[in-house]
Amino acid sequence: MNSVNSVTAPAAADTAPAGAVRARAEIDLGAVRDNVRTLRARAPRAELMAVVKSDGYGHGAVPCARAAREAGASWIGTATPEEAFALRAAGDRGRLMCWVWTPGGPWREAIEAGIDVSASARWALDEITEAARASGRTARVHLKADTGLGRGGCQPADWADLVAAARAAEAEGALKVTGIWSHFACADEPGHPSIAAQLDAFREALAAVARAGLDPEVRHHANSPATLTLPESHFDLVRPGVSVYGLSPSPEIGAAAELGLRPAMTLSASLALVKRVPGGHGVSYGHTYTTPGETTLALVPVGYGDGIPRHASGAGPVLVAGKWRTVAGRVAMDQFVVDLGGDTAAAGDEAVLFGPGDRGEPTAEDWARAAGTIGYEIVTRVSHRVPRVYVGA
Ligand SMILES: *Cc1c(COP(=O)(O)O)cnc(C)c1O
Repeated sequence: MNSVNSVTAPAAADTAPAGAVRARAEIDLGAVRDNVRTLRARAPRAELMAVVKSDGYGHGAVPCARAAREAGASWIGTATPEEAFALRAAGDRGRLMCWVWTPGGPWREAIEAGIDVSASARWALDEITEAARASGRTARVHLKADTGLGRGGCQPADWADLVAAARAAEAEGALKVTGIWSHFACADEPGHPSIAAQLDAFREALAAVARAGLDPEVRHHANSPATLTLPESHFDLVRPGVSVYGLSPSPEIGAAAELGLRPAMTLSASLALVKRVPGGHGVSYGHTYTTPGETTLALVPVGYGDGIPRHASGAGPVLVAGKWRTVAGRVAMDQFVVDLGGDTAAAGDEAVLFGPGDRGEPTAEDWARAAGTIGYEIVTRVSHRVPRVYVGA
């Protein structure tokens, strides 16, 4: 069992020996708490659901959910039911919602664990109603409208039918419609015309719910960029994810520091080897880099098996011996190389791949640019081979 990634913060810190680790992802839970407080101040009239799907975007769902609760998150959100069950098993007793369901899913277990579930279609509502009848408990259900994202959610043409079925099941006592919700397509592009169109569609969906006689507890539509930039989208509850971990949802919204956010993860490794090589020496698979002259190479013992994107070959930035270096040649499964030029370093010296940036290190956003992706993916893909070390618990 990989206890480092699955248990409480102090135990995880215990299992990762200080100092001599190959690689470590240090998670600052104080930053998570501060970010949640910052986000709550941006949406002062709404409750906050901290989204901890995919193991808390790679930061560890259990310790991050706990930190978010401490800072006032009254809800926690996950994608899958299994992620929600793991939080219950770790002792989380608060409001908890999950939304990625497939037919035959563990509805009854979720209902009995007091987890709020989501329905985008009649098949889901019918399975929920059946499971609630079987368990004798009242299911808590959020009906999801597709207000324009074109991914999950119920299309406007099918909404009245879904709402009517929910109303009937509620009258029978099988379920309570606790939420009405939807999700943005382009909230990270302020002013995009789809934003206003989605809000209009959401208000229409809410009006249909009211006409049917349903009175949900919470109406919610806002992810991180909407929480930060769009007060009219806050309704009763906001659902930030990436910003809880201190990353900006997009450069267009602003840099993390400008938004009052602090990145919680610092990814570092110990140099495994430092050596002099002659000029004209090929480096790593495919020899896509050749030393321009006699130089010093340093071996950083992390690779795509640790979640370092191979797309960042020849491009990813690393702080070594006080300067930014660039990945020389290809990222391999377990290691990559940086060229230190005329500088020196020793095996065991620290290489910082990314962090908050205030020690001069690159950020996850810098890696995202180097790899042609988004900061979300950089932190989320850091694999379970990298021990998480928690500070600020
Ligand atoms: C991931 C997710 C969020 C959080 O999105 P961020 O952009 O990370 O804030 C909110 N709601 C749903 C449905 C999601 O899937």
